[in-house]
Amino acid sequence: MVLSDNIKNMFASFALQTQKAMDRYTSFRVGGPADILVLPQTVEQVIALAKTAHSAQLPITIIGAGTNVLISDKGIRGLVMVLTRLQQNIEQTEPSIDTVDASPDRIYLTALAGEPLNRLCRYAADAGLAGLAWAAGIPGTIGGAVMMNAGSFGSDMSRVVTKIEVLDLNTFKTMVLPVSLLQFSYRKLALENSIVLKITIRLSRADAETVRDEFNRNLKTKQSTQPVSQASAGCFFQNPPGDKPAGFLIEQAGMKRARCNGAMVSDLHANFIVNHGNACASDILNLADQVKKSVYEKFGINLKEEVKTIGD
Ligand SMILES: Cc1cc2nc3c(=O)[nH]c(=O)nc-3n(C[C@H](O)[C@H](O)[C@H](O)COP(=O)(O)OP(=O)(O)OC[C@H]3O[C@@H](n4cnc5c(N)ncnc54)[C@H](O)[C@@H]3O)c2cc1C
Repeated sequence: MVLSDNIKNMFASFALQTQKAMDRYTSFRVGGPADILVLPQTVEQVIALAKTAHSAQLPITIIGAGTNVLISDKGIRGLVMVLTRLQQNIEQTEPSIDTVDASPDRIYLTALAGEPLNRLCRYAADAGLAGLAWAAGIPGTIGGAVMMNAGSFGSDMSRVVTKIEVLDLNTFKTMVLPVSLLQFSYRKLALENSIVLKITIRLSRADAETVRDEFNRNLKTKQSTQPVSQASAGCFFQNPPGDKPAGFLIEQAGMKRARCNGAMVSDLHANFIVNHGNACASDILNLADQVKKSVYEKFGINLKEEVKTIGD
């Protein structure tokens, strides 16, 4: 989209980039241009940007670290905010007397949405705080992890989040949502038209060595079972109900190592589609369609995408 001078003027006070290719902002390393791209560093900037986009009647797209998205080759219209710079120090607090769960071994960590989940996880491991070691090796921001209800090793974000602060894009007001109001389900938080700004999680004091061991063990498992050094967005499909994970079904349907140009079903983990360097979004989508078709033909199961497709 060609941006008018009027719209450019409205965003003049922000460090914006126009027609910026999004491939370097996603772990899949694909994605066409964003009309307007900004990487805000403060909550105030996020709010001001959202209000400006609203006045200019531009759609708003939020990206964290882009590790669970597939951005289309035609790119994204309107304003894209990448939140990886929305960070501050991790804040550690003890339960106060009026906290619902005031057990003295509980500790609360609060961070802005752009904080890498891995850094929060390592912080917890180093501080001897139990409850987050399952997240070792999951890339991305904690804002993205909350929206995706990221999980592994039988746990997920819904187990640790106590409250989030969001910007409501209908009213442009911030509000704090306690976990009792959050509807988490498998790889999903039901939250529409909002930007997650700040997250508080609850952990508990434990033996530091035990926590670090669990963290390191989980990290090693991930590194040996997932193609972590290749460009991907993690598991492409959700595990369907039942006891057979998507990776198993894809492998049994004979799709391991299937290719569409530079996109390939990983030979290490069949639920990962990897980009060998020259894939575009349409190659990945074509391959994903072939995978779905093959699994449906063999098992009658319709796989559902876990990766979010964004853009035109
Ligand atoms: C090698 C690899 C391994 C992975 N392993 C796992 C795993 O074990 N378990 C797992 O669950 N996932 C895994 N993933 C997927 C991914 O890392 C997680 O889903 C991660 O939590 C996404 O965070 P992100 O910041 O990258 O979000 P993005 O991919 O940037 O965004 C994901 C979605 O959340 C929205 N969003 C992001 N931030 C915000 C915000 N602040 N406010 C509102 N909306 C927002 C975006 O619009 C998008 O719809 C893996 C990915 C890779 C590449």
